[in-house]
Amino acid sequence: MHSEAILSTARLNIINVGYDAANYYLLATPQARLLIDVGWPDTLPRLRATLKRMGSDLAEVTHLLVTHYHPDHAGLAQELKRLGIKLIVLENQPAGIMALKQYMKPDSGYVEITPHDNIVLRSVDSCAFLRGLGIAGEILPTPGHSDDSVTLLLDSGAAFIGDLPAVRISDDPAHPANVSMEQLLLKGARLLYPGHGPLRPLP
Ligand SMILES: [Zn+2]
Repeated sequence: MHSEAILSTARLNIINVGYDAANYYLLATPQARLLIDVGWPDTLPRLRATLKRMGSDLAEVTHLLVTHYHPDHAGLAQELKRLGIKLIVLENQPAGIMALKQYMKPDSGYVEITPHDNIVLRSVDSCAFLRGLGIAGEILPTPGHSDDSVTLLLDSGAAFIGDLPAVRISDDPAHPANVSMEQLLLKGARLLYPGHGPLRPLP
């Protein structure tokens, strides 16, 4: 591994600030606080309280990455943007943001995610972007659970996969979920941080 990557990994702290049977991860570096996924609409007080309990503060969060635009992973995204948190959107995700808007009921409390003020990244540019946040890794499109699913893969082998199935869900090797997981393995994923359930070390 690259020495710079070792340094960044050593200075990277990961905590789970999830609730309601979902995992939301906060990555803290000297330069930034990156939140991976957020909960349902109307749960901002719960996020705030969970962060506090885990020794952090919502006011310190600088960036948000959503693994896929389903309500249990993206419901609060716009509310966080209103607090000044920058939303990172990968190139394969804008259609997912539109689909979430169609899906949410008017009485859900959902605040529509505006498209114009996001950091839209190509996967090939994600490594350089993350380096600016003190994070050694890249963001990859990993369709399978949904077309807009992405994974943050750290150089350390930690992979934040959202709801990408960690086990084969089909015997078809060409199934998008299998292709995505195979790609993560080839790129060095060693420990899966899923959107739900416990961490999964890979053999
Ligand atoms: Zn989910």
